[in-house]
Amino acid sequence: MAPPKLAAGNWKMNGTLQSLAELDALPTAPGVEVLICPPALLVQPMAGRAAGRIMVGGQDCHAAASGAHTGDIAAAQLKDAGASHVIVGHSERRSDHGETDAAVMAKAAAAHQAGLVAIICVGETEAQRDSGETLSVIAGQLAASVPDCATAANTVIAYEPVWAIGTGRTPSAAQIAEVHDAMRQALCARFADGAEISLLYGGSVKPANAAEIFAIPHVNGALVGGASLKAADFGPIISALS
Ligand code: PGA
Repeated sequence: MAPPKLAAGNWKMNGTLQSLAELDALPTAPGVEVLICPPALLVQPMAGRAAGRIMVGGQDCHAAASGAHTGDIAAAQLKDAGASHVIVGHSERRSDHGETDAAVMAKAAAAHQAGLVAIICVGETEAQRDSGETLSVIAGQLAASVPDCATAANTVIAYEPVWAIGTGRTPSAAQIAEVHDAMRQALCARFADGAEISLLYGGSVKPANAAEIFAIPHVNGALVGGASLKAADFGPIISALS
């Protein structure tokens, strides 16, 4: 089975209840799953408004199932609010909150335990790319952030070069292809259904570059930040994936 095609939006710390109106204008496209990960407070109202047309996800979860963790959110609470997915290990979490690969792996396992699909993010910094370390960094992050319980049904991997996030800069098609090919090989070597795990590219995906990016082998969709906030931008990206 081919990996599912997924257009995932990451609203980051943007949006209010009013922003949910954007959902109404989003197109659906044959064979394309559409997901939006809004701030946690909007998960429940978004799930209600999207009414099965659009899937809803969290942007982070705690590794523990419950307990004394002020300000944190458990995977089961996201699920309870209507989420089907949760992003873990986004580079902004890794840098703003010091999340290590081991922490990301524990969060992904907690997501699986709660019945959520974990979107596990990996990506090199500009300095790592400049020094030729990209493939070894990605291999290391995959090995240490993706738990053994990962399957094609509960895991999506997002390749997001840190230097491409929110910068308007993207790797060349050849650079994306090289990383996605290496990720596919690593997943196939480790997991029986590694060939069916969806691999997303993320980092400055826009309507203008989406079709070119989606044509790259082993790119099964995108994790979109800024361009997911408005239906006028995210809509054409969804359509380009079908
Ligand atoms: P961007 O963000 O599309 O705004 O570059 C992508 C992401 O961080 O997921």
